Amino acid sequence: MRNLKTIRLVVIRTQELGESDKLITGYSKEKGKIQLLAKGAQRSLKRFVNKLELFSYLTIQYNDKYRLPIINWAELLDSFLPLRQCYNSYTTAILICEHFYYWTAADDGDKELFNCLLWFLGELARQPARNSQILVLFLSKFYDRLGYRPDLTACAVCGKLDNTAAPFAFRTAHGAIICRRCSVERGAIPLALPTIKLLSLAFELPVGKLSRLKLNNRACREALNLFRCYGRYLLDRDMQAWQSTYPHFNK
Ligand SMILES: [Zn+2]
Repeated sequence: MRNLKTIRLVVIRTQELGESDKLITGYSKEKGKIQLLAKGAQRSLKRFVNKLELFSYLTIQYNDKYRLPIINWAELLDSFLPLRQCYNSYTTAILICEHFYYWTAADDGDKELFNCLLWFLGELARQPARNSQILVLFLSKFYDRLGYRPDLTACAVCGKLDNTAAPFAFRTAHGAIICRRCSVERGAIPLALPTIKLLSLAFELPVGKLSRLKLNNRACREALNLFRCYGRYLLDRDMQAWQSTYPHFNK
């Protein structure tokens, strides 16, 4: 059976197909984003019960003879159950998964991104109260890995990064910050100096050490606004999940 393949993935989206099938989108270390068909999954066949759910970390055997590979069996490695039991963790986890859905491609596996996904879902499951901070740290790593790290080293015009130049503003079109003295532009994304310093640290620290960073409400608000606006600029659309997670943010 040379068409049978085994893969480990995290389910990042599920869709019902017709009367009884389910379309599973996962992110895997080897193949990046992958779509698979689970035949009969809606009729809760025993082999799939409670396994092909959003956020599940699975080993899957599939047959790749078909254009849309068909799942043979699935084994649950971690369900990240707490993510389904707290509304804020749930919507934050969906936002993380949607980033993988929209920003990654098929046949483009990335071990670091995959480990990042597992680590952040785990953190979110363990510390639901820190959901906004965890999201900021995730986005720092995610954008950085994709090559879209915002340039926060200093004002892009005068090269200063100190309190006399604060507050700063992020410009999506340049992917960089401009200080108060160099810009009077309205509608730019405000960033206080402590937020800039925290984000700069988040870009540098290895994933496993990120939990030592503590972000207050202001830093979270500014950073999330930055990533949302920058993402919308890069992707040329606002992701639906942002609207349900942070409906009060700038449109
Ligand atoms: Zn400046």
